[in-house]
Formats: sequence, C-alpha cells, structure tokens
Amino acid sequence: MNFQYWQPDIEKMPRAELETLQLQKLKEEVRFALRTSFYRSRFEAAGIKSPDDITSLNDLAKIPFTTKNDLRDGFPYGFLSIPKEAVVRLHASSGTTGIPTTIYFNRDDIKQWANYMARCMFGTGCTKSDVFQNMIGYGLFTGGLGMHQGGEEMGMLVIPAGAGNTNRQFKLMQDFGTTVVHATPSFLLHVETKMQEAGVKRESLSIKKAFAGAEPYSEDTRRRIESLLHVDVYNSYGLSEMNGPGVAFECQCKDGLHIWEDGYIAEIINPDTLEPVKDGEIGELVLTILCREATPIFRYRTRDLTAFYTEPCPCGRTHRRLRRITGRSDDMLIINGVNVFPSQIEEVLMGMKEVGNNYLIVVEKDGALDRLTVKTEIGPDIFMDDARPLNALKEKIKETIQASISISPRVELHEGGSLPISEGKAVRVQDTRPKDI
Ligand code: AMP
Ligand code: ZN
Repeated sequence: MNFQYWQPDIEKMPRAELETLQLQKLKEEVRFALRTSFYRSRFEAAGIKSPDDITSLNDLAKIPFTTKNDLRDGFPYGFLSIPKEAVVRLHASSGTTGIPTTIYFNRDDIKQWANYMARCMFGTGCTKSDVFQNMIGYGLFTGGLGMHQGGEEMGMLVIPAGAGNTNRQFKLMQDFGTTVVHATPSFLLHVETKMQEAGVKRESLSIKKAFAGAEPYSEDTRRRIESLLHVDVYNSYGLSEMNGPGVAFECQCKDGLHIWEDGYIAEIINPDTLEPVKDGEIGELVLTILCREATPIFRYRTRDLTAFYTEPCPCGRTHRRLRRITGRSDDMLIINGVNVFPSQIEEVLMGMKEVGNNYLIVVEKDGALDRLTVKTEIGPDIFMDDARPLNALKEKIKETIQASISISPRVELHEGGSLPISEGKAVRVQDTRPKDI
C-alpha cells in the first residue's frame, strides 16, 4: 500500500525521540497549568512547584487524575490558563445543558488542532482534490468545526453541511461531487436507508470515504456501512475535553486508531484499582493534552474502555494504536451521538410533582437511528382516565427533557406502581441496542 504522511518526521519518529518530545511538551503544559488555581494547588500537594520538578515521563504519575466533575466544578473559567483577551474560541461537551465542560482555545491551540485533524485525514489517503462534506452538528459540539478546519488545513474543499436533512445532503453530494463524508455511524446507516427511499442512485454519487465517530460502533457496523454505501470507513475518536476529533484515527490499515502521542499522553488504567493495566489489556483510557495552552488538562479519566495494540502498525507510524472503544466505565449513554447521563433525565422527572416514583429509560434502535423512550409512573393526583391532564403532563415531560439533553424522547405514562421494580439495585436503563463490538 502507498501510505501517505502529513508530517512523516513526527508520525514515524523513533519512540525514544517521541518520548523526549513528550517530556518537553509535558513540562510546557505544567507551566501553563500552574497559572490556574486548580492545578496550582493540586501540583503543590504532589510536590510539583515548577516545570523543572518534572524530570521524566514517570513523574506524570504524581499528578492526580482529573474527572468530568472537576471540570464542572471549575465552570466556567476555572481551567482557563490565559487572559480572556487571548482566547479566540470555546467548545463544550455535547448534549448537556446542565453544567457543561467547557474548553477554551487561543489562536495557536486552534492551529495545532487543525494540524492534528489534517494529519488524520491525510493519513486515510485524502488529497487536495477531495470534496469533503461534513454531515455533523456545527456549534458547541467539536465534531463540526474540528473536522471542518482539518479539512481546510489539508486543502480539501469543505462543505459545512451540518447534521440531518438527508435530501439536502444528497443534493449537496450530487451538486459538488462529494468524495469524503463525516458523520456518526448511525447517521451513515440512516443515509443509506433514506437513499433507498428517495430513489437516489449510488452511481449518481462520488463518495469514496467516510469518517465515522462520536459514538461506539462495532466492526460489523463498519462492514455494513462499507458494503451498503461502497465507501471506506475510518474510525475517528476524540472528546471535547481533549479538543474533539483528531485525538486518535485509523490509518489506511484500518486496524486500530493511532493516538497522536506528540499531542496526547495516553495511559490505560483499571477503573476500579486505578492502577495501569498490562500492555494489551482493556481498561479506561486516561489522557493528558500536550497541544493546548488555554485549557491544560492532566490525566483526564475519559471513561472510555480500550486497549493498546502491542504490535507496531504496518504503516510505519510509531504512535501507538488503540482498539475500537468497546464501552464506558460509567453509565453515560450516547444517543445518536449525543452524550446523556441517566441522572439528567431523572432530575427532570423527579423535579415534577405530578410524576410518580418509578421510571424506566429505554434506548433502542429505530432503523439506523437510536430512539429514546421515557416511561414514567404518574403521581396519585393524576388519573389514567383523564386524558387532558395526562397529555399536558406528557408534553411537559417531553419538552423539559428536550431542553435538558437536546433529545426529544417518546414519553409513556403508567399507573403508579405498575412499572417493574428490581430486587437489587434499581434498573433504570434498558439499552436494547445490539452490542456486537
Ligand atoms: P464529546 O465530548 O461530546 O465529543 O463526546 C466524547 C465521547 O464520545 C467520548 O468520550 C466517547 O465516549 C465517545 N466517542 C467519540 N468517538 C468515538 C468513537 N470513534 N468510538 C466510540 N466512542 C466514541
Ligand atoms: Zn497505521
């Protein structure tokens, strides 16, 4: 295979050199972080008063983990390490309107992010003649602008299509001869279903490649998308806390995602003992960013479960590969690409006095997309045979949940005491989506 590299010197850098580079960048990040009160006190407790107290990569282990809750506690500006006038953009984690985790960028941070993204895309064989249609949400979510600026950096013609509206997507593909698309895997499958319905002929489209990410999917799903849409699908992994997409990406071997180790230090730990797992074992990915000044984050517990490959990749890149993410070590659900914690739904339900005590959150497949149903018992003051207040309550629940998590659920109301009660821990979530990862 004819592999192409955006920055061959860095992508194929011998490990020893790569680690020296990591150490140098780690010290730099420590310097940035010492400007925030959060890390200043954390570092002090760990005996780190200046970047010079970090003398080897092993010193990273002295720094405690950072969690999503830490970031939330620091909302809005607690993790900002530069003066506000030097900030040029912010992004936030998807789906949460409670307390989001917010990340800030200065001009150089954005440039670096675009460079990592360009590296990912170029590594899949894209060229300047490609036309890239970005079919994912623009806005606070990082998938839109993140991929967009990477495509531009690489020199592709980028169509900022945004998510949804398949008919418009087909029209754009046909009008401009789109060759590369980016979407969630569920949206790509949905596109195929809609193509059939709309009678769009595959021959009328020029798409060759698809970047699929933002949610977990299996190798079977990749194969299905590839055979239905006749495209090469590349797995794209990232999270807003670490900029967004561009953290790890598949190369043309399509066997594991290279994590850019000059931009991120990756550790994999046992989520219960918090000790590192043995090389090749599955555990929780912990990431430290080395390529952002405005919001340094150390040892972030991603909650994503994966493992390192132990063999080098045939493409010659020395940056280690991660296995496809197999799940999470917390209860976060990803519904059509949007992160949802069951507690957010619970908060809405339990905040309404008309609602009873028991509820069930059901997530299932509806065609290619995910569907969320919230089943809840009604309180004693509402009667099942009185349609008006029932419908009003249904509507109110639906709207309040939508306002909280940006997803409109189906709502089912049940008589008090009629939903199943489990004997042990309450089972509040029924996720029937196939788990064939
Ligand atoms: P966000 O911060 O909103 O971009 O969400 C990031 C989360 O989405 C990650 O922590 C993962 O749980 C999930 N995610 C992103 N990309 C992938 C992928 N390629 N495979 C599995 N999960 C993914
Ligand atoms: Zn490779």
